[in-house]
Parts: sequence; structure tokens; C-alpha cells
Amino acid sequence: MPDTIPLPAPGSPSATRPKGTTLSSQGLPASAPPSAGGAGGGTIPLQDSVVYGPIRSRRLGASLGINVLPLDRKVCSSNCVYCQYGWTLPGSSGTPLRRAPELLREIEEAFARHALEGTSVDCITLAGNGEPTLHPDLEELIIGIKRLRDAHFPKAAVGILTDSTQVTRPKVRRALELCDARYMKFDAADEATWQRINLPFGHTDFGAMVDGLRTLPGIVLQSMFMQGRYDNTSEPHVRAWIEAVGSIRPGSVQVYTVDRGTAAEGITKVPKDTLQEIADRLTAATGIPADVFD
Ligand code: SF4
Repeated sequence: MPDTIPLPAPGSPSATRPKGTTLSSQGLPASAPPSAGGAGGGTIPLQDSVVYGPIRSRRLGASLGINVLPLDRKVCSSNCVYCQYGWTLPGSSGTPLRRAPELLREIEEAFARHALEGTSVDCITLAGNGEPTLHPDLEELIIGIKRLRDAHFPKAAVGILTDSTQVTRPKVRRALELCDARYMKFDAADEATWQRINLPFGHTDFGAMVDGLRTLPGIVLQSMFMQGRYDNTSEPHVRAWIEAVGSIRPGSVQVYTVDRGTAAEGITKVPKDTLQEIADRLTAATGIPADVFD
């Protein structure tokens, strides 16, 4: 992929329609409910600040979140059916991205305030209102955040949550390698399931993404399993997922399921014993440790 900034006009049907996916005139998946824009219910509002939390996360402990994306819209390279923020809406109107120097000034103020208040922070995590690897200043931001981490929370790891779609871009890979922890989304073992569940925008190639994951050191894969209207727990898919994860060889895998509202309707949680069985099968087949979060 070109090492450019593919900042999406999210959902723009002409430029960003994922292969094999039908989009409505609103740029939403054809399966989205008429009210979409919108969610299946119970989704959470966007983060309204650059630094938020700390959130006591099931997977990360006390995590101070960093949102380098706009505060009034989700900017993402995916449109996951289970997104807790609802659908990625079409168009790019709203406030523009803020560049690194301005964001780092705000992050510094928030870190100083939290340090003064004695906030306990296990990790600092780039996530927020969409896909952080779409930010054009990602390297500069991570270098700056690590410097501020050293000053205020020297024991906290700096991590990033990403949908993995940008993993082939050299500039993004360099930025990812600067992080102490890289949490890479991997919910689907094959192109068709990926298109159905994650609805990636643009021209991301599934095979290239998997190759990119294989060659990125020290990653943690995060795999969301769900049932109901969208189901990636069928025996053929789980078998293919185990094989794919075995070929990627991450340091570990986090197996989890939905715990909040979802963009699409009709998605249900996977029982914990099913998640545990999937995790145990992965470890038995590949030797890769897997943790379950329900
Ligand atoms: S990658 Fe994350 S923010 Fe983007 S649509 Fe999927 S769940 Fe939502």
C-alpha cells in the first residue's frame, strides 16, 4: 500500500466501499437498521476529550485512553458490526484532525493533572474515536506520549489498539514498533468473514494484512467472537482461525466477546465456556497463550 494518509471520508460509497459489501445510500452496510447512524442499541457516546479515563478495562487494567481523532465523529478504516460507538458514518465533515504539537500540549496538561491527583495508571492506550493509525503524525505522537509517560507515569506501558488494516504501511509499522504493546484486531480467518464482520473501507488486502501481522514483532492479537445475526464461532471458522493465528505467531491472543451495545442489531454474547474452549484449542494446537475476557 502507498505510504500516504488514507484518511477516509468514512463510508464514501465511491471511494471506500469494501469489496463484496453492499452499502446503502447513506454509506452504511445494507444490513444496517433503517435508523442506523445509529446503532443496534446501547452504544456509547464518542470520547469528548483527547485524554480520557482511566478506564478499568477487562484486558488492560487501569488504562488512560488517548484519542488523537476528532471529538465529534468516528474516523475509522473499519465499520465493525459490533462497534461500541455505532456505525462509522459517511462523509468527513466536522472538525478536522488536530496535529501532533497541539495534541501533545493537551496530553501533557492532562497527564500533569492526573499525576497531581495521584491517578493510578497501568497503561496509556491510543484508541479513541476510531482508528489511531490513520493519524498522519502517529510516529511523532507516540514519541511525544512516551516522553510524557516517562515524566509522569514511568511504570505505565504505552500501547495501541488498532484494526490492523494499516499494518502494511511502512510509516505505520515504524510507529507501531515504537509502542510497548501492540493490540491488533483479528476477528476473521478469511476474507469473506472479515468483510462481513469488520466491513473494512478502502483497498486493504486481507492476505497482505495477515502477512503484515506475521512480520510485526511482539504483537497481541485481539479476537472478538460473537453469535446471533453475525456468528464467527462456527466449527469451520474456528478451525480456520486457529490455523491463521498459528501462522501469524503472535506473542499471545485475547479472546473476548461483546459487552456493550453494538452497531448492528441481533449480535449476542458468546458464553464464557465457548470462549474458553476456543482459547484452549488454540493453545493446544499452536502453543500460543490465549486469555479469555467475557
Ligand atoms: S475498528 Fe474499532 S472503532 Fe473502528 S469500527 Fe471497529 S470496533 Fe469500531
